Formats: sequence, structure tokens, C-alpha cells
Amino acid sequence: MRLCRYDDDRLGVVIGDQVHDVTAAQDEIRKSARYDMMGDAVIAALPEWRARIDAMAKAAPGKPIASVKLLPPVARPSKVMAAPTNYKAHIAEMAARQGTAPEAHRGISAAGIFLKANSSIVGQSGVIPLRFPDRLNEHELEIVAVIGKTGTNIRYEDALDYIAGYCMGLDMTVRGKEDRSFRKSVDGYSPVGPWMVTADEIADPDKLPIELTVNGVTKQKSNTDNLIYDMRKLIEFASSFYTLHPGDYFFTGTPEGVSPVKPGDWVSAACPAIGELKIQAVAQA
Ligand code: MN
Repeated sequence: MRLCRYDDDRLGVVIGDQVHDVTAAQDEIRKSARYDMMGDAVIAALPEWRARIDAMAKAAPGKPIASVKLLPPVARPSKVMAAPTNYKAHIAEMAARQGTAPEAHRGISAAGIFLKANSSIVGQSGVIPLRFPDRLNEHELEIVAVIGKTGTNIRYEDALDYIAGYCMGLDMTVRGKEDRSFRKSVDGYSPVGPWMVTADEIADPDKLPIELTVNGVTKQKSNTDNLIYDMRKLIEFASSFYTLHPGDYFFTGTPEGVSPVKPGDWVSAACPAIGELKIQAVAQA
């Protein structure tokens, strides 16, 4: 199932090129959710509501997806986790830039996971406002897992049970000396979307071809089978420090090919099993 948020905080199911309104389910779920819950009530309720949402979508008239405004798929993530240096070829390209050996760079096991500010999240219909156009701003193509339920110290073999679905993501980055969490948390620097594909539709998250283009020119092309920490290991590792909550986003790392993004550029991140996230960078007003 492809679940989207759209227009004025509506919930939709995407079937083909149509979005079917299931906002009534969202209203009911939110009404009975505790205010002090951690994470997103709708994502948490999906297992229980899945069949009803399916039925509602089939009964609801469709509206062309191109005619709606797509919002980030999760309304209330409790956090945005991200994996640094999780593809060998990306570590090698960053090492080459600095004239150092790839082995001199800290791998993910030493660097750990970092957090991006929730306020940096933006959906398909937003823009990436480049706040420091005089500095090097780059795209990082990433598969993003959406956590489905609360868990901590999750075992490797159970890890996929904690994923509600997947979307495409851009870990936009200002290069420089500040802490990662600062440089990668500029407003609009975490585009996610275009919707969330539920985990049951992804046969193997560690075998997903991914591709990024800037203005139609391919810059990054890889497969999640190149991940150093695969999807299960990422969940196990992150949850050895954090408690994960439903709706948490998990950026899984970027392959090689990162390159500059300038005002006016259209950036597209795509995976056949998920869809295409396409968003424009603009100069911050
Ligand atoms: Mn990244």
C-alpha cells in the first residue's frame, strides 16, 4: 500500500496515478490517541487499521495524484535518524577529496548514527531553500525506513518487524566543519516522499536499486546491497542507543556520486519499488 499525506493534512492511498481519500480513518485514529504518545498515531495504528483503510480506499473516488500537494508521509516523527558513511564507494570519494586514505575515515561502527532536526523535513510539494548558496550544498540519495512500532535493543533477526514502510529521501548537506547534525538540519534539507510504501510490498530492502538525477542527469546510481550496515543492522545498531518510535524516519546512508545543488536545480531520487521523489532547490527568500 502506498500511503500519502496531502493537501491540508489529508490521508490518502495511492493506487496507480490516483489518490483515494481515507482521512476519516486518520481522524478516528488521532481522536483516540494519547497526546503524550511518542511518535505518530497513524503509523502506530496501521497494523490494526490496514484492512479497513484498504476497503475505504477502494470505496473512495480517486483524484489525480498530480493535482494534489504531497506532504511528508509522517505527520509527527519523534526523530530523524541518519547513517553516516554507510557505502564504501562514498567513503572513498570523500577521502579522495581530502587527499586521505579511505581507511583513515571513521566507519559507521565508530561514528554511530546522527540526528537531523525534525524541522528539516519537507515533502514532495515543498522546495529545498538553499540558505547558504555561497557554500557547497550537496545531495545525498538515500532510502528512508519509517519505523512502525516502539522498540529498543532490537535484535538483528527481528529488525524488519519494526519497519512500517519506506520512502525516498534526500539527506541534503552543507559541507563544512560544523557538526553533521547542524549542517544537515537546515530547513528543507530532509525531503522525504513521495509517499510511504508499506514494508509488505518490499521483498528485500537490501536489494533496492536507487538512482538520483539533477536536472535529468544521473549523478548517483547504486543498490542497497552495497550498504555496509544493512537495514536490519541499522535498526539493531540505532536501537542499542535510542528507543525507536512509530513514525521515526531512518536515512540509511548515501552511495557515491554526491554533487553540488544550486538554486533552480530539480533533484529526483527514485527506486522502482518505491517511486520518485522530485523536488526543486531554490534560493532562500
Ligand atoms: Mn547521508
